[in-house]
Amino acid sequence: MPELFDNHNRRIDYLRVSITDKCNLRCIYCMPKEGLSDFKKHRDILTYEEIELFVSHAIKQGISKVRLTGGEPLVRRDVVDLIRSLSGIPELHDMSLTTNGVLLADFAEELYKAGLERINVSIDSLNSEKFKQITRVGDLNIVKKGIQKALDVGFKPLKINAVILKGINDGLSDLKDFAKLTFDYPLHVRFIEYMPFSKEVGFKAGLTCSEIAEKLKTFGSLNKVDSPRGSGPARYMKFKGALGTVGFISPMSNHFCPECNRLRLTADGKLKTCLFSNDEIDIIGPMRNNHPEEAVKEVLSRALKEKPKDHSSALKKDFVRTMSQIGG
Ligand code: SAM
Ligand code: SF4
Repeated sequence: MPELFDNHNRRIDYLRVSITDKCNLRCIYCMPKEGLSDFKKHRDILTYEEIELFVSHAIKQGISKVRLTGGEPLVRRDVVDLIRSLSGIPELHDMSLTTNGVLLADFAEELYKAGLERINVSIDSLNSEKFKQITRVGDLNIVKKGIQKALDVGFKPLKINAVILKGINDGLSDLKDFAKLTFDYPLHVRFIEYMPFSKEVGFKAGLTCSEIAEKLKTFGSLNKVDSPRGSGPARYMKFKGALGTVGFISPMSNHFCPECNRLRLTADGKLKTCLFSNDEIDIIGPMRNNHPEEAVKEVLSRALKEKPKDHSSALKKDFVRTMSQIGG
């Protein structure tokens, strides 16, 4: 199998693909309540054929893991068809999807049958009112049904992503709900530090992973455990007797740049080498105007040269894109 290495000798084998910048929620830390003024038109985003072409050529070069994300990936029409055709690529070893879970009860079975292996569901509060406050329009019960359905059809491991915000969902009762979830279900609850991508926020700040871990210790001792499959930079711990685990992803307080193995393809066809950098390499133009395989090869080789060693300099700038426009 071919392997890709960047200029800092990191092996790059993971591609995140955002398939839409649109979303059916409006999380306060991610998107303004009226949505984005510059949601992309259909003609300006990669078609499914172009995504498949990019992914299959990238796999030939050395990518072996792909995560589909957005915006909300399940709002794009015929997403199951995309998953079915990507899962037919023999060298693709791991395909996963990140979703807000709103449409999961409807889609879980089809997604599983189409060959999707793993799902991460984002859910920032297990309290209905707070969930509504954070997502502005979300209904917690619908997302819970989606999670149950995903467990029932066999998605394993099933991971939950939560961003903890000061004064919003950082109370002991909020964290106790997440801890309890790991006692009651074989779920892996991962706390992701808030990253300041957007200006419009409405809360003070995010909690660091050490602050969250300190609070969690109130509910029992936590022991380090091995990571479930496909865990990237998360560190995992478990309460004694729990079925699931808690994980910590700390992009702000503890950078994991030396282990970074990923590239990101945005819905509008730009390749990003670093989540925190405004730099991006156009792929939609070259793919539409030139020989697509050559275009992918050239863009990947440029990305490997340009991928920064770390994000320390990028963090000082204003961000051009929010997380929903990059693909989280
Ligand atoms: N809509 C899907 C969802 O919410 O899971 C997929 C896209 S969303 C951008 C992916 C992940 O990014 C979610 O877990 C979300 O909580 C996280 N996220 C979005 N904005 C963030 C930010 N500013 N800081 C940290 N995480 C963020
Ligand atoms: Fe939508 Fe996900 Fe952003 Fe929430 S975090 S607004 S669900 S893209």
